[in-house]
Amino acid sequence: MEHQHHDTAPVTLGSALGRGLRGRCPNCGRGRLFLSYLKQADRCGACGEGFDHIHPDDAAPWFTMLIVGLSLIPVMIVAQGTLHAHFLWTILFLSVFILAVSLVSLPLVKGALLAAFWFYTSRSATGR
Ligand SMILES: [Zn+2]
Repeated sequence: MEHQHHDTAPVTLGSALGRGLRGRCPNCGRGRLFLSYLKQADRCGACGEGFDHIHPDDAAPWFTMLIVGLSLIPVMIVAQGTLHAHFLWTILFLSVFILAVSLVSLPLVKGALLAAFWFYTSRSATGR
């Protein structure tokens, strides 16, 4: 059985989002979407697909704040109820939690957003 090449397989929103989450080109899944932690590449190094027209602006931090805020509620309740620590230790624990979730979520969210923006703009524009 022959595997279908990445370039010929039709890109669905799901596959584009999955590639974006992994920081890969939503079109081919091979090239990198980011030059560094959050700096988006102008184009894919593997297939040449351009990303320089996609500007998610504040969307990634906004969704990240939403994720952090919603995940913080149960963690705060559990931390307050089980740790029985001095409130300064609780604040320190929660601060580290907020920082960790933010730093892990931000590139994932930005990658998924870039992939979604790419899917609804570039794809329809070129008729693929
Ligand atoms: Zn590519």
